[in-house]
Amino acid sequence: METIKAGNQTVRAVAGAQPYHPERSYRFSRHCLEVDCPEGRLLFHSLSGELLLLRESESPENPALREELVKRWFLVPLEFRDRQHCDQVRSVTRLTQKDKGAITDYVVFTTTDCNARCYYCFEKGQRRLSMTEQTARDAACWMLAHAKGEKIKIRWFGGEPLYNAGVIDRISRTLLDGGAAYESTMVTNAYLFDPTLIEKASKLWNLRQALVTVDGTEEVYNRTKAYIHQEGSAYKRVLSNLERLLEAGIATTVNLNMDAHNAEDLLALAEELGRRFGGKKGFAARCELLVAYVGEVAAFESDQQALDTRRAVNERLEAFGIRRKATVEQGLKLNSCMADDPRSVTILPDGRIGRCEHFGDSEEVGSIYHEAWDPEKLAAWLEPRPAEEACEDCVLYPQCYRLKKCNACPDRCNFLFREQRIGNLRDKVRNTWERWRQKQSLQAGGEHED
Ligand code: SF4
Ligand code: SF4
Repeated sequence: METIKAGNQTVRAVAGAQPYHPERSYRFSRHCLEVDCPEGRLLFHSLSGELLLLRESESPENPALREELVKRWFLVPLEFRDRQHCDQVRSVTRLTQKDKGAITDYVVFTTTDCNARCYYCFEKGQRRLSMTEQTARDAACWMLAHAKGEKIKIRWFGGEPLYNAGVIDRISRTLLDGGAAYESTMVTNAYLFDPTLIEKASKLWNLRQALVTVDGTEEVYNRTKAYIHQEGSAYKRVLSNLERLLEAGIATTVNLNMDAHNAEDLLALAEELGRRFGGKKGFAARCELLVAYVGEVAAFESDQQALDTRRAVNERLEAFGIRRKATVEQGLKLNSCMADDPRSVTILPDGRIGRCEHFGDSEEVGSIYHEAWDPEKLAAWLEPRPAEEACEDCVLYPQCYRLKKCNACPDRCNFLFREQRIGNLRDKVRNTWERWRQKQSLQAGGEHED
């Protein structure tokens, strides 16, 4: 047995070593994911984040190996209650976390207005608000006061954040003048970028990554986005802008959001992106199913067909080397996302403060203009969703911490929501092994040369 990844030390310390009783019967933990690899089988524990390799010749029936797997919680007694154990470890691990009170991660809505009109936009029907120069200055001062000297990370959001790019300049300059270290990412359709803005993005905004959704090849994309601008092909313009961003050293990640209407077209898009961006440093693309979140799959023949089509698109992206090979994370999640992370807030265009980037004009908990926040609203954002029946046996449970108020996951867990994520985890396990194997081979090569 080899340890490929040691996992989360705090969680492992909190869980301790499980006592071993040779006379007892054991089974694999519900939180252990098994993935085949050319050397044998990989075992990933989603609570501890530990990843092991068992070679073909190694059987868990071997007494010494069995004992080791029990100690590390990969094997548990038949009657063991995996979910309850995970809940206990989560509660105790939380007590070990120290919050210094700094707020360092910001989602800034420069505007809720947008130059595109996507039919699936979750902000449809919201008021169109834009941040003023004065609010931008006040927001930056607020960040300086609350980051307590730590590096500030901003995600520019909207609407379309570039539709009000002047306030990005203002916030960046104020942070710079205030001596803050900061960097940013942006969720954008990239249409409005031009050489001047790209220069600013690189030098003033410290933009590290642009996250861009491209829903199809030229005709499908132009129809879906329905930009207010009428001149030329929006698709061609956006793809050229992605190239310019890469040339300026700004990473770009393209999301291919799939539903039944564009599924076939995304295969062609993956090919186009591969030919154009394959081998370009900083470029990545990934395909996710929109239906996994809204839970409507009627237009696909079956859930399995939806998963298979998505996999085919991702495999094509991989073949061109433009799907990032993510590796496994540290196991147990203590919170869900920015909405229940004390280091994180959203700043809305009028200076109100919120917790979740899916609410650009509602659900505020406070404001940069008064320090007292609404305790009831804050508490509501901390409330987790109760576990469902399906969670009892689900390998994702330690990493699936969902909030009651979250509108990006289905009200009830569905097959696609779960299977898409288990598929992603399998890929990560394999990628982690691959990276480990390459490192081992390099080291062995180095030693051989010595
Ligand atoms: S993916 Fe679904 S079943 Fe699995 S832990 Fe999350 S909510 Fe529960
Ligand atoms: S939509 Fe859900 S996951 Fe996303 S920030 Fe809001 S609460 Fe968190």
